[in-house]
Amino acid sequence: MTTPSILRVGGMLVGYYWLCPRKAWLSMRGIWMEQESDTVALGRLLDEDSYDRSDKHIELEAEAPDGTSGSTIRLVGKIDRANLREGVLHETKKSRSCEDAHLWQVRFYLWLLFRNRVTRADGTPFRGQLDYPLLRRTETVTLEPEHETELIQTVTAIRNLATQDIPPARLTKRTFCAKCAYEELCYG
Ligand code: SF4
Repeated sequence: MTTPSILRVGGMLVGYYWLCPRKAWLSMRGIWMEQESDTVALGRLLDEDSYDRSDKHIELEAEAPDGTSGSTIRLVGKIDRANLREGVLHETKKSRSCEDAHLWQVRFYLWLLFRNRVTRADGTPFRGQLDYPLLRRTETVTLEPEHETELIQTVTAIRNLATQDIPPARLTKRTFCAKCAYEELCYG
């Protein structure tokens, strides 16, 4: 396996890291499982079926300080749907089972806007919204000052993880792993 040459930390990777550092490591090495693709496809389908056609797709880049070395880390975000008039970034998920990871993924996107000094026309910050169309629920997400420290620590940890030659240990919570696309690879 090869180390990613130019690491760019994105929102999905941040979400993976919150779920399981091993999962983040495997995806950074370009290892994808079919179920993962199905999940992404389902997400797209839910997006297309559920929401306003005027929503915009946004791609963002930013840099953040590395929390340990003093250098910088490149950050990228692909926001599937943003309602610019309302100032809301949407992220669609099928279930709430990994909600912490979902929250950090959306906070990461809000952080990219913050680092680029992008606000709504009236100067107020964007907010995020997790959409669970299958559950008919939504969850509001905001970026608070303490989240920035946590996000710097997270992207620094991901940067350090990328340099590891071997993956982190498996999670011990096997019931959680049963829902993961990498389950066979980790336990097969
Ligand atoms: S199966 Fe478990 S240990 Fe393996 S990547 Fe998925 S969550 Fe992590």
